[in-house]
Amino acid sequence: MAYQVASLAKLTEQFARIPGIGRKSAQRYAYYVLSQPQQYAKDFADALLDASKSIKRCSVCQNLTDGELCPICSAEGRDRSVICVVADPRDVVAFERMREYKGLYHVLHGLISPTDGIGPEELTVKQLLARLGSEVTEVVMATDPTVEGEATAMYLSRLIKPMGIKVTRLAYGIPVGGNLEYADDVTLCRALEGRNVM
Ligand SMILES: [Zn+2]
Repeated sequence: MAYQVASLAKLTEQFARIPGIGRKSAQRYAYYVLSQPQQYAKDFADALLDASKSIKRCSVCQNLTDGELCPICSAEGRDRSVICVVADPRDVVAFERMREYKGLYHVLHGLISPTDGIGPEELTVKQLLARLGSEVTEVVMATDPTVEGEATAMYLSRLIKPMGIKVTRLAYGIPVGGNLEYADDVTLCRALEGRNVM
């Protein structure tokens, strides 16, 4: 059997779970943490726990926040008749950056992906459907133009349209296979303005 120290392997495993960190880097970080005085590990762990404890999901839109409601849901003057559905909290940041959109959001926290075992139950679909009252007249599907993004938009559209709510999809100013988060403001703005009815 290969040489392995269980707790070291466990620590390496945790670092390796972070997107963009390969096995080698993960191992380097694990060794680094262990080479430091124990206080370092304690400070590290405390910072992690503090952040994960104080940041939670907005009870309405599921965006990350440190209060009960996120600043967007609690803001006066937002158009409550439009909900823009995004996969990730970082997509909200991208939309807010262009200062053009005045409606609300709904964060799915992922996309439907059967190959990765992610179905609607793993996302915040239930919470989205629950907030579609009479006030909401349009839902904008702002998921990435990827296979998963399209599948998710189609799935939600089929559920929402029978409720008599207009469902629209961002226009393709965003390159197919592209990532909303990295779209520049002009592209994102055009994609929103030119959205199509699904
Ligand atoms: Zn919110």
